[in-house]
Amino acid sequence: RVAVVLYTADLRVHDHPPLRSALAEADLVVPLFVRDPAVDAAGFASPNRLSFLADALADLDAALRERGGRLVFREGPLVAEVLAVAAEAGADEVHMAAGVSRFAAEREERLRRELESAGRRLRVHDAVCTVLAPGAVTPSGKDHFAVFTPYFRRWSATAPRAVGGAPRRVPVPDVGSARLPSPKVARRSPGLVPGGESAGRERFRRWLAGGVDDYEDRHDDLAGDATSRLSPYLHFGCLSAAELVERARRHGEAGAEAFVRQLAWRDFHHQVLAARPAAAFEDYRGRGDRWRGEGPEVEAWREGRTGYPIVDAAMRQLRHEGWMHNRGRLLAASFLTKTLYVDWRIGAAHFLDLLVDGDVANNQLNWQWVAGTGTDTRPNRVLNPLAQARRFDPNGDYVRRWVPELADAALPGGRVHQPWKAADGERPDYPDPVVALDDGLARFRDARGLD
Ligand code: FAD
Repeated sequence: RVAVVLYTADLRVHDHPPLRSALAEADLVVPLFVRDPAVDAAGFASPNRLSFLADALADLDAALRERGGRLVFREGPLVAEVLAVAAEAGADEVHMAAGVSRFAAEREERLRRELESAGRRLRVHDAVCTVLAPGAVTPSGKDHFAVFTPYFRRWSATAPRAVGGAPRRVPVPDVGSARLPSPKVARRSPGLVPGGESAGRERFRRWLAGGVDDYEDRHDDLAGDATSRLSPYLHFGCLSAAELVERARRHGEAGAEAFVRQLAWRDFHHQVLAARPAAAFEDYRGRGDRWRGEGPEVEAWREGRTGYPIVDAAMRQLRHEGWMHNRGRLLAASFLTKTLYVDWRIGAAHFLDLLVDGDVANNQLNWQWVAGTGTDTRPNRVLNPLAQARRFDPNGDYVRRWVPELADAALPGGRVHQPWKAADGERPDYPDPVVALDDGLARFRDARGLD
C-alpha cells in the first residue's frame, strides 16, 4: 500500500501524526509539499516567509533523505497536484494536518471531495499544529472560549495527545518532483533567522538549557531579548507545540510554566479563528469604531518615524529582523489603533507583510485584542508609549539598538525616549511626535464614547 503525506504548516519529521500513521499503515509513503499560487494570491506568501519556507523545505528533504526517502515538491493548484501525485503513486489515502483558517478549511473540503470521487480517502489529523485541537475544550453550550483565563484552566487540565519521535525509515516510491525552491530566494529583512526543523530544535535545546528559567522575570525586557524566538518555527510547524509543552513541563520551574502559558495563548487564538473564521478580517466584537485609514501618520508608523522612539525602535526591529519582541508588538499596535485611531486591519496587513512568524490566527487576533475589538476583557485600555518605555526599556538600550540616529545623540539612559525634551544645542535630528499623546487619547475616548 502507498499513502501520501501532504505537508502544509507542519514541516518536520519529529512528532508528526500524519507521517506516523501513514508509515504504520502503508508500505511506502510520499511526503509531499505543494507550492500553490492561490496561497500567494491570498497574500500569505511574503518574501520573508518564503525565504524561511525554502530553508524549511530543504531541511525537511534532508531529514527524509537521512531516512532513506525524500520530499516530493510540486508547484500548482494544490488539489490538482495532490490528485496527480496520488494517481502517479497509486496511493489510496492522503494524510494531512487540520488547518484552522477559512482558506484551509475550504481547501480541505475540496480535496476530500475530489479524492473521494477518484476513489481515494483523505485522513485529516487533529492537534498537529496546536497542542489541543480547536474545539477539544469548550464552555458548556458554546463552540469556543472567548476569554483566555477560563480557557487556560481547562486547557491545563486536559492531557494532550501522546508525543512521538521521528521515524527511523521513510520509504518513498519513485514519483516525479520539481526542484525545491532555492534557499537564496529574496528576503526583505537582512536579519532573518534560518528556517527549518534542525535550526528550530537546536534553538529549543538551547532555550531549555538556558533562557527559559529566566523567562517569567525577563520576558517583557525589551533590550534583554529574553524570549524563546521560537515563533517562526512554530508557525511553519518545524517544531511541534505539543512536544514543546511536554518537554517544558518535564523541565519544570516557573519560567517553563510561563512559557507553556504562552503556548496556550497560541492555541487560544487558533480555537477562536477555527470557530469564527471571519475574525481574520472582521471585528470579532464590533465597538462601533469609525477607524481612520491610510495617511502620512500611518506611513510614519510603518517606517519607524513616529517621533516616539520606543514605537520607532519596535517598527525598525520588524523591518530588520522580520520579527518583533512581543512587548514591541503590543505597544506598536496600541499606538496605531488607540493613539492614532487607525484601523487594526491596516496594521495587521503590514505585520503580515514582514513577520516571518506572520500567522492569520495569532496576528489578526492579537491585533483585535489590542484594538479592543477582540477578546481583551478591557477593550478600552491604551498603552502609553512613554510609560511603556520607562517600564520595559528603562535605560533606553532597545531604542539605541534599533534607532541609530539616537544611539549617537547626547541623550543618556531613559532620556532617549523623549528627544523633543533635549536642550536646544543637544537636540538630535529626529522627527517630532506625529501626535501629542493627550490629543490621541482624547480622540480615542471620544470615538468610543467614553467620558
Ligand atoms: P515567547 O515569548 O518565547 O513565547 C513562546 C511562544 O508562545 C511563541 O513562539 C508563540 O508561538 C506563543 N505566543 C506567545 N505570545 C503569544 C500571543 N500573544 N499570542 C499567540 N501566541 C503567543 N505571534 C505569532 O506567532 N505570529 C504572529 O503573526 C503574531 N502577531 C502578533 C501581533 C500582535 C499585534 C501582537 C501583540 C502579538 C502577535 N504575536 C504573534 C504574538 C507574540 O508577540 C509572538 O508569538 C511572540 O512575540 C513570538 O516571540 P517568541 O517566540 O520569542 O515568544
